[in-house]
Amino acid sequence: MVSYLLFDLDNTLYSSSFGLEKAVGERIRKFTAQYLGISEAEAVQRRQARIAFYGTTLEWLMAEEGLTDVDTYYRAIHPAGEEEGLYPDPKVRDFLLSLKQPKAILTNSPMEHAERIINKLELQGIFTHIFDIRWNGLQGKPQKEVFFRVLKTLGKSPQEVLFVDDYPSYVQGYLDIGGQGILLDEENLHQDYPHERINSIFELKKYLEA
Ligand SMILES: [Mg+2]
Repeated sequence: MVSYLLFDLDNTLYSSSFGLEKAVGERIRKFTAQYLGISEAEAVQRRQARIAFYGTTLEWLMAEEGLTDVDTYYRAIHPAGEEEGLYPDPKVRDFLLSLKQPKAILTNSPMEHAERIINKLELQGIFTHIFDIRWNGLQGKPQKEVFFRVLKTLGKSPQEVLFVDDYPSYVQGYLDIGGQGILLDEENLHQDYPHERINSIFELKKYLEA
């Protein structure tokens, strides 16, 4: 029985077609290349070789490449105004409000990003908690400690909380601890994903009736 809903933020509560997260990815690539003093192509390669051991680029850069200035990193990849191209979809707000379960957000981004996005999407007042990356001690999904920390705060077991994210590895991380997880795959990028997968957040309803 699902008694809490836990949502990712980016490309989950708004459409990936806005390209906002893609732009974040480009800024991460630029920052990493500049920080390491290598080309962007080399930065991509080096990240690809190591990111599987971490939840986020920041964790990798801190653990292996000596990065300590977290605020500078976040200012570079989440500049003010990053949300400009985003527009609210009132249907999403109405849909979320129509679901009786309480709702929270778990994001690998910092709070300043989460707040900008939620305000721009006009989704204020819907979520009981916004668990951001600093709250999680800079540890990101899909590490299991992250999920357990959230569950403990919500006072729920993994089976009671339905988690929705657009990253297969993050959903898998939650399934691995016994949780209920659904992949939101708006663009049908993960057709070989072996577990529950939806194309739109509005399909969630069928998992909540029973
Ligand atoms: Mg996402």
